[in-house]
Amino acid sequence: MTPEITKSDQEWKEGLSPEQYAVLRQSATEPPFTGKYVHNHDDGTYRCAACGAVLFSSETKFDSGTGWPSFWEPEKDDSVELRPDKGHGMVRTEVVCARCGSHLGHVFPDGPAPTGERYCINSLALEFEPSGGAPPRG
Ligand code: FE
Repeated sequence: MTPEITKSDQEWKEGLSPEQYAVLRQSATEPPFTGKYVHNHDDGTYRCAACGAVLFSSETKFDSGTGWPSFWEPEKDDSVELRPDKGHGMVRTEVVCARCGSHLGHVFPDGPAPTGERYCINSLALEFEPSGGAPPRG
């Protein structure tokens, strides 16, 4: 599937911090317990830090103890795209933003009910919007 938003590598680089670029566009992983949303328990919405698409809700966030923000479900089934990832000597499932194709993290089958899934997402890939904060766009 081709993402709705496509930019050149240079354009991505200019719009993101070096740390965000490394995660979102080069599939890096932030060190555990370093991200700003690991312990965020506020109500709100998590958007893609690269394109602003709504990806996750605080309602599905849980404390996995892994050091990364963890969710048991994306905002919508088609908010994210899953891709097989055989890098680093592991077989994992990569999670990317369906709108812009940016790397977000990985999903594992050891999450809590009701889905049993654990979306393990880098804080650097997310932008948190508190409930009732910003007015609706458009
Ligand atoms: Fe995106």
